[in-house]
Formats: sequence, structure tokens, C-alpha cells
Amino acid sequence: MGFEGKTELCGLSFEELKAFVLSLGESAFRAEQLAAWIRQGAAIGEMTNLSKALRSKLEQVAYVNGVKIRESLTSKIDGTEKYLYELPDGNLIEGVRMRYRYGDTLCVSTQVGCRMGCKFCASTLDGCVRSLSAGEILGQVLAVNRRIQALTPGEYGIHNIVMMGSGEPLDNYDESVRFLRLVNAEKGLNISLRNVSLSTCGLVDKMYRLADEGLPVTLSVSLHAPNDDIRRQLMPVANAYGISDVLKACRYYIEKTGRRVIFEYALVGGVNCELSHADELAGLLRGMQCHVNVIPLNEVKERALKGVTKEQTESFIQRLEQRHISVTRRREMGDDIQGACGQLRRSRL
Ligand code: SAH
Repeated sequence: MGFEGKTELCGLSFEELKAFVLSLGESAFRAEQLAAWIRQGAAIGEMTNLSKALRSKLEQVAYVNGVKIRESLTSKIDGTEKYLYELPDGNLIEGVRMRYRYGDTLCVSTQVGCRMGCKFCASTLDGCVRSLSAGEILGQVLAVNRRIQALTPGEYGIHNIVMMGSGEPLDNYDESVRFLRLVNAEKGLNISLRNVSLSTCGLVDKMYRLADEGLPVTLSVSLHAPNDDIRRQLMPVANAYGISDVLKACRYYIEKTGRRVIFEYALVGGVNCELSHADELAGLLRGMQCHVNVIPLNEVKERALKGVTKEQTESFIQRLEQRHISVTRRREMGDDIQGACGQLRRSRL
């Protein structure tokens, strides 16, 4: 069954679903039934409490979720799963499911590729092909939940979501925000936004907009440098916004949402990993309600940048702790399955 010209049901709010159902000449309570199926990512053909006639009418004009898991890899080390998804137009994106004691986290993509151009990142190597619809972002969660239900019935499914896959969510602002509302909707996935993180390279004007949406999502900011000179070497976006503007927007976000901001800091050998850099970073963040996630760089073969040793990572973290900065080392998961952004997709293109 093709997708062309059809309505993507998982991208509709409940109100929109109701309007859609009415437009087909059906009564509004069908929307309740449909919503319950959509939440499970069921195909129209499986909706057994709808008449066959209605199902075939629906199949002609709509589909539930256009995102399909085409390939999956499971880490033997920690059970992390990596997915290659296919979109209705044949584009490929990827995602990662991380297993934690307190539930599974899914990392979702928001664009096919990315146009931010960060020097260490594999997702941006061929630029941005297109942005995803809210339904395509949500569809990743639905597809994975369905896989979990099929393989291990009764398991809870995805509990936390991080918008940290390929793409810059704030460069796809409207669909990313729409996705957040769908995730949170009572008749949708009904996941608390406290369990959702949005990661940005720091598009300052959009950070202000997000702060004003009234969505208490955790904001992660990819800082990766203690000053503008170093940041410009790693991230072209630093030419558009200085660190002081990024931090000002972060303070606004903290004030509006009451939530602490997370800073991502990837250690790049010879660039940003000296103890003096840790001191400079601590100076920047002093007194801010924030947490730093230190990530040893995941080396990407197309990129010249190098990672750092375990010892360098540990001493960088220690120095931040001495300066009273709340900090953790981000666990590297799925090292054996190309866990880092964009690597699996590239190897399959
Ligand atoms: N565009 C968003 C979200 C996607 S990237 C952002 O920039 O935040 C998710 C995180 O992974 C970011 O912190 C990004 O800087 C980091 N990242 C990308 N490639 C990496 C690599 N090779 N090693 C370590 N971290 C990387």
C-alpha cells in the first residue's frame, strides 16, 4: 500500500483526528477507537473493532505510521539497540534504544542529515536532505514500541526520549514542538515531558521561543568549548551566536521552565580538553542551575578529529567537580554497533 497523498494518522492531534473522522462521514467516537490503535502503532488492517468497510475506506486515504525499522543491531556489551528506519519516501534515518534500570530511552532523529556542519559529527557530512514531520519523529517511537511488544510482550516500552539523533531539532522547530505535544498528549503517548530531552547546537532565537512554549522539556545544549575561538573551530553555528548569547538564552530557559539545563561537552584531543579549559568552563557556568555531560569524542572515520584517553576524561571531570560544577561522564553505549550519530546510515547509503 503506497503512502502518496494519504494522511499520516500518527501525526494528528486528537482534535485533528476527530475532524478527519468526521470528514469521512463517520461519527466522532471512532476517533477514540482510532487513537487507541494509533498509540500502539497498529496498522489499519489490524483495527478489529472497526468494520471491514471502514478499514478499507481508511486504507485508501490514510496510514498510521510511515516509519519502518529496516535493520537493527543489538550490542552484545550492554543490550543497546541501533535501528535503521526507512521513511515513506525511501530516505533512511537512524536511532538508538538504550536500556537503563529505570526504563528504556529512545534517541530520535528530527531531520534526514543535518546542515549545522559540526566538525566532529557524521550526520552533517552530506548536509540536510529534509526535515521530518512530527508524525515521522513520533513514528520512530511507535515502531520501536511495536517491536518491543512483538519480541517481549508485556514489556513497558520506551519510557524516555532524547531528541539527539540526526538533525537539529530547533532547525525543524514547528514539527519538533508538535512532536513534543503529541508525545505528551493524554490520548497520545502520554509521556511526561520531564522524561524528554531536546538537544540543540544552540540556535539562540529558537531557544527563547521554546522557553515560551510552556513545555517543561529538558534542554541540552551542545557547548563543546569554553570560549568562542575554540567553539568556532568545532561548530560553524558559533559564528552566528557567541557563547555569552547562548548562556543568556539558557538562563532565560531555566527561569521560565524551572528546569536545569544540560551542557554537552565532547572532549576533542588537542582542541578543548586541557585542564585550563575545564577551569574556563567552570568560570562560565558558575552559579548556573546546570549539569555538564562530558563525552569522550566518538571518532568518525571521515573526520580528522581525535578523541582523548580515559585518564584525560577523568581529570577533566575531576577538575570541574573541584570547581563545584555538577558533572557526569556520558556512558558510551553500543560501541560495537556504531552507536554514534549518523554512522550506520552512512555505512548503508
Ligand atoms: N543537533 C543537536 C542534536 C543532535 S547531536 C545538537 O547539536 O545538540 C547530539 C549530540 O551528540 C550533540 O551534543 C553532538 O554535539 C554530539 N555528537 C555528535 N557527533 C559526535 C561525536 N562524533 N562524538 C561525540 N559527540 C558527538
